[in-house]
Amino acid sequence: MSGAILVLSGPSGAGKSTIIRQAAPRIGPYYFSISSTTRAPREGERDGVEYHFLTRTEFEAGIEAGDFLEYAEVHGNYYGTSLAPVHTALAEGKLVIFDIDVQGHRLAREAIGDRITSAFITPPSLTELERRLRERSTESETVIKQRLANAREEIRAIDEFDYVILNDAIEAAVEDFVALAHTARLKPGDREREVLVGRWLDGRLN
Ligand code: ADP
Ligand code: 5GP
Repeated sequence: MSGAILVLSGPSGAGKSTIIRQAAPRIGPYYFSISSTTRAPREGERDGVEYHFLTRTEFEAGIEAGDFLEYAEVHGNYYGTSLAPVHTALAEGKLVIFDIDVQGHRLAREAIGDRITSAFITPPSLTELERRLRERSTESETVIKQRLANAREEIRAIDEFDYVILNDAIEAAVEDFVALAHTARLKPGDREREVLVGRWLDGRLN
């Protein structure tokens, strides 16, 4: 079967990056979609690794050129998913993992809903989210407040997702994520179903 897409959303500080990092050796060939953003790099972030860091002008040129599968304005900055590397990874049979916000999930569903498995990742409470964001200490107080306010809105979109991972104990959340990655690979897109049926009828499926 060709690749599959796993969309992860959830409040900033939910533990998405931590879970993916810890689960990575156990989920088979995957491509973590590197988004483009106009936000400033955090300490230790490198261009082309965590994100492609663009100016607003560069980002808007990308929008014009139709480079993005989806893009959204989150916390006052643009974030978007480039189409080309996603196509390549899918053709290579990889699981493509997106870490995008709830607006991005909606747009991606509209564009390629048949290929998508999605999960909302959240800590057990808003209080715990706040504690983790402060402990991570990568943002200023103003930015933390903005992210918490945004989280209150995002949690309301939870019923738009196929699955929920409650990131309380990290080990359990990683186990859930590994199961989810395997599940996502079992979801064929519309085109793949057609091909499968054709080959099955021809007796060529083994
Ligand atoms: P996200 O990628 O969703 O923004 P991170 O993976 O950066 O979130 O996690 C935010 C902070 O919370 C980090 O400092 C991380 O070490 C911590 N963290 C993640 N998962 C847990 C957990 N289960 N228990 C306690 N702290 C956690
Ligand atoms: P951060 O600044 O903490 O890296 O990310 C902030 C938010 O932007 C997170 O909710 C993250 O999921 C979201 N995000 C990151 N990349 C994309 C993207 O390509 N598209 C959309 N729509 N959201 C993104």
